Amino acid sequence: MNRNFKKDQVETMKLVTVLSVLVLIMLVLALTLMNNLEYPAANTDPQTQYMELPALENMPLESAKETLDSLDISYEVIPTQSRVANRVERVEYTGKDEDGKRLYEIGTTVKLHANEVGTDKVIYLTFDDGPMVRYDLDMTVYYTTEELLDVLDEYGVKATFFLAGYQMVKNDRSHFVNELYEKGHLIACHSYSHDFGKIYDSTDDFISDVKEFESALENILGKDKYGSIGKYIRFPGGTESNGIIFGDESLEYINAIRGEGYKVYDWTILTNDADDSYRLAGESDKDYFMRSVKEGLEGAKGKNKPLILLMHDKKAMTDVLPDILDHLIDEGYYFDTLENCPEYTTAE
Ligand SMILES: [Zn+2]
Repeated sequence: MNRNFKKDQVETMKLVTVLSVLVLIMLVLALTLMNNLEYPAANTDPQTQYMELPALENMPLESAKETLDSLDISYEVIPTQSRVANRVERVEYTGKDEDGKRLYEIGTTVKLHANEVGTDKVIYLTFDDGPMVRYDLDMTVYYTTEELLDVLDEYGVKATFFLAGYQMVKNDRSHFVNELYEKGHLIACHSYSHDFGKIYDSTDDFISDVKEFESALENILGKDKYGSIGKYIRFPGGTESNGIIFGDESLEYINAIRGEGYKVYDWTILTNDADDSYRLAGESDKDYFMRSVKEGLEGAKGKNKPLILLMHDKKAMTDVLPDILDHLIDEGYYFDTLENCPEYTTAE
């Protein structure tokens, strides 16, 4: 009796141990499952060791690197044949496409095709006052914006267009605004009226003029596209505008517009395509613009300022732009939009 009781006790203990182990295993399984449910490990699939790769094309190189670093994905930068500075042009990776997703094989290296260029070799091309039209002697209409876009396409580079609101709302020109957007150029503000007397009367007048520009731009582009571009402005005449605003008053205007979320840009190099006062006797547009650019580049050396080239959306410029681009390329420069450029004003 006693012995049987002991035997039963041992059997019971064995059963309890087995059950305890089973419960423990089930608990571990349940926890693992819950953990997986709670964290589906974002885009990873532990069995295949793949992970979804985010879209990196056309992203500034620095942002793409940060994205990959945060995902613990290793990468290398491969230079391209283009003149595009610091922007991802193509992404190469080991993996597969599935349901429109790019699955990258974990542990392999992603190749970012991009030109990694120091700031002293980046030129920011900027065109003011467009979209613009010109008439030939027989009154044939030509759109200089279109001509500039053709040249930029041919060279495969992007520029920043500081548009004037009153020009872009004209019926025959608003489609250029969409075209600039679609082609990846940066659309920026150059006021609505471009009327110095009106906009530089007070900071309130300035801001309401800029607000008019904003609603005009939103009307043309639509809410989504409009919302996707940042706020960049060039003051008509620059932040120290022909003696109308300067010094502390310029700073008031700059601070007021920054309060509206804008980044402000003057220029460091110019073609003088809107100012004949430095033209030598008998000097052609081409010689004058080229000389101005070369002197500007020379003057900017060692100054640690961004190389922002001021041009205008006008006939003379469309004719000389290829020569300017050829020269800059020969000198080893690459191009970018102001999106990746620190703010620059002469007033500060
Ligand atoms: Zn202007």
